[in-house]
Amino acid sequence: MSKCKLTGRIVTPGDPDYDLAREEFNTRYDLFPRIINFCQTTRDVSNAICWARAKNVKFRIRTGRHSYEAYSSLDGGLVIDISEINDIKVDHKKNRARLGAGSLLYPLYERLYEEGVTIPGGTCPSVGLSGLTLGGGWGMLTRPYGMLIDQLVEVEMVDARGRIVVANKEKNADLFWASRGGGGGNFGVVTSLVFHVIPIDQVSTLSITWDWKGFEPVVEAWQSWAPFTDCRLTAIIDILAKDKGELRALGEFTGSTIELWRLVQPLLDAYPPKKVEIKSVPYIDAVKMFGGMMPGMEEYAVSHGDPDAHPFKNTGAFAKKLLPPEGIRILKDFLSNSPSPDNKVQLQALSGCAGQFSPTETAYVHRKALFSLLYITKWDNESEANINTKWVEKLRNRLLPFADGAYVNFQDNSIKDWLEQCYFVNLPRLIKVKTKYDPENLFNFPLSIPVACRK
Ligand SMILES: Cc1cc2nc3c(=O)[nH]c(=O)nc-3n(C[C@H](O)[C@H](O)[C@H](O)COP(=O)(O)OP(=O)(O)OC[C@H]3O[C@@H](n4cnc5c(N)ncnc54)[C@H](O)[C@@H]3O)c2cc1C
Repeated sequence: MSKCKLTGRIVTPGDPDYDLAREEFNTRYDLFPRIINFCQTTRDVSNAICWARAKNVKFRIRTGRHSYEAYSSLDGGLVIDISEINDIKVDHKKNRARLGAGSLLYPLYERLYEEGVTIPGGTCPSVGLSGLTLGGGWGMLTRPYGMLIDQLVEVEMVDARGRIVVANKEKNADLFWASRGGGGGNFGVVTSLVFHVIPIDQVSTLSITWDWKGFEPVVEAWQSWAPFTDCRLTAIIDILAKDKGELRALGEFTGSTIELWRLVQPLLDAYPPKKVEIKSVPYIDAVKMFGGMMPGMEEYAVSHGDPDAHPFKNTGAFAKKLLPPEGIRILKDFLSNSPSPDNKVQLQALSGCAGQFSPTETAYVHRKALFSLLYITKWDNESEANINTKWVEKLRNRLLPFADGAYVNFQDNSIKDWLEQCYFVNLPRLIKVKTKYDPENLFNFPLSIPVACRK
């Protein structure tokens, strides 16, 4: 008889909180796990792995539930949820923090801000630290401080045998390399992460809105400016569908507002904006602004349901060169004929410190990209799912001559050569690491890194 037992908080079908406990951020997927195990300690995680192995039960690992394709859940199996492992300890002497891998971004930023520090993570308040970090992680501090993985010092995980493995530059360096961009769900269950932390207080924020009539000059000016401007400034631009008819640039700058006014001049000259706002704000207010948080949304606990969860299909690509006029024309054409007014494209400036590493230094390979493109579609009624999904997939395909590659954190199971698009030259090395640490391929899902074939 197996001695393995599930420990921690267990939710099963029929429990009053089962429906909230099983909900993924992308409600396009409606999955019914057999057991949801909210682990509260590393021991709970080891027990869950042991139990799943002994019973031969399929499982998935989950933190913030933001997997685009809902690969942190499954029908009929075990969900190992680590969102309740969220201790935060800041060591001011070493400028480091040990973070429970189950932390969600907004509560984490808020807690770190109380200590006068932060990490350069993503914008969405309820994204999980683990999924975000393992895939690379970018946000509004990416150009001054790099990808989130560039501040990662150490990772602790539970492996396929239920053992605790620590990986850093000295110990299990191959696993540490793979954990910086290889993506969640591949090597083990991460339970804690150590980061360098960045002192933070006030920042300057930027918000500019243009009318749709300025489409070409604004897109052209933004892409020629955002990846090349002062690297203390990180900018994104939301290009909305024609029915909404706006382009909105946002930025975060670690210098003064006076300098920021000077830096944005090329954008302001490109086409007369409808509105410009430049402010100096406490860092945590900038976090709320970029996270689109309404007052009262500060209480994020996914087990109580995410107020922003909705059905969607997103995908993305990277631009290593500026989009030529033909690329901008395709973008405009798709956004002019979008099946939903809520569809949009978001460009995120990269380069700066994120571009200072070589593509092979970490598993995140897209170091030479100038900016990423995120193609976004969402809908209200199930009947609109197909037309919107097709629209977004077609848009990515049409722009492939100008923007390719895939970000492992923007999972898209319609991309046929997903692994190559995600990892390029790093794929063989990732397969080697996978084969070493998870030879039986216990950690798997449709887009996971495979183990090498036995000779
Ligand atoms: C609304 C929204 C906003 C986003 N904003 C950004 C952004 O600003 N910047 C950015 O870079 N990305 C962004 N993303 C993408 C995001 O980084 C990925 O979806 C990420 O994988 C989510 O992690 P999670 O823990 O929330 O999700 P989950 O669905 O819980 O997990 C995602 C993947 O990681 C695995 N995983 C989760 N926890 C662990 C763990 N502890 N150990 C090992 N594997 C684990 C899961 O099995 C799954 O495969 C956004 C996504 C959404 C939906």
